[in-house]
Amino acid sequence: MTLGTYSIGVGDRFAHQAKAQLEACMLAQKAGIEVIPVWNKSNREHTIISSEPAATRSSADAAVKALGWTKPYFCDADHINLTTVDRFLAVCDFFTIDVADYIGKPAEPASIDAFVDRHSELIGVIDLEGVPSGIEITPALLGKTAEKFLFAIQEAGKIYRKIEVSKGKGSFIPEVSMDETDSAQTPAELLIILAAIADEDIPIQTIAPKFSGRFNKGVDYVGDVEQFAGEMSLDMAAIRHAIALYGLPANLKLSVHSGSDKFSIYPAIHAAIKEFSTGVHLKTAGTTWLEEITGLAESGSHGLALAKEIYAEAFAHSEELCAPYATVIDIDPVRLPSPTDVNGWTSDQFTSALRHDQRSPAYNPSFRQLLHVGFKIAAKMGSRYLDLLEANEAVIARNVTENLYTRHIAPVFLGRQELGAPRPDFRTWDYSKKEIA
Ligand SMILES: [Zn+2]
Repeated sequence: MTLGTYSIGVGDRFAHQAKAQLEACMLAQKAGIEVIPVWNKSNREHTIISSEPAATRSSADAAVKALGWTKPYFCDADHINLTTVDRFLAVCDFFTIDVADYIGKPAEPASIDAFVDRHSELIGVIDLEGVPSGIEITPALLGKTAEKFLFAIQEAGKIYRKIEVSKGKGSFIPEVSMDETDSAQTPAELLIILAAIADEDIPIQTIAPKFSGRFNKGVDYVGDVEQFAGEMSLDMAAIRHAIALYGLPANLKLSVHSGSDKFSIYPAIHAAIKEFSTGVHLKTAGTTWLEEITGLAESGSHGLALAKEIYAEAFAHSEELCAPYATVIDIDPVRLPSPTDVNGWTSDQFTSALRHDQRSPAYNPSFRQLLHVGFKIAAKMGSRYLDLLEANEAVIARNVTENLYTRHIAPVFLGRQELGAPRPDFRTWDYSKKEIA
């Protein structure tokens, strides 16, 4: 089972938009590129809204059948570990093995020594094809990196083998993710990590490092775009090097856990995949849920009233809703409109505060982020929410498809600059600046 060059991870909190999401991949096909859909939903999300992975699978299957999609598609058990993987085993065929919690825990000293002895090829200045200067790994850095990551990769091996026993070798796509941790991994660390992954015999097809900068949920990237571009190109060069040296799968590529809507780095991602003739997996999170709210608000009457009610509830419970996402949201309480004000809003006022259009003066990122983490409110509403989704399917589907295609697929995979974001040139990045903030 092989993941294509370009793939997009789409989240669908309530398993109602698979068809609208797949429409976006069909638009890509019409534009001349193949973008493989991967429906991802993490264990955390399933737990928050009391859903089961089987529902994600059946809505994906139904969408594929309804639209006659003949290319591959996958269901991603997103951010799983040894204790949470079980309920995903039967229905998923893409597994994001999350080792972030194990980073920094030391492996057995003997296994660290053995790793360092086995990998003397990693010491020195390593020339990477496609970048102007190599990366330097000293014996001290190799040892320190093994101390920091080897245990985590050994855990990834255990999780991988558990999945392999259940599903059979080669019948699923394994990813290793390290994005939900405190500090970004440098390209040198990534190369060492890939050597360890090869030692564990995990045939990963995607790897998700943590990049520098902030990847807040549903809003734009906060950080140095030039630095991101340079870092990503070095990561791609390191991956290409590791494929050749360690026999990792030839289609191994970066997985960018974007948290959605990282518009300002999309041109850099596009430039890098072109430059390195490689692919990328763009994992988007919950903006489909926000498009549902946008569509409901746009529909007026009952839909708008429900959208306002969800905001009022989210406002009242903001502390509790934000807590699990503290490291990936930046809400300015002063910028949150009062529920009383919002109650007086028209459809247009609501949607223009919510829609991620940075050119619009009405766009309110704090309002958007609070609603982003507010899906638990809708989950509690149960059929009241789902019935309105179904009643307003057409307007919601249009928002979902348009958002995914125009704002994500077109800039990342087609290099279209609808959003007017500047295109950084990673070749101008200072490669001697190997420290990653
Ligand atoms: Zn992630």
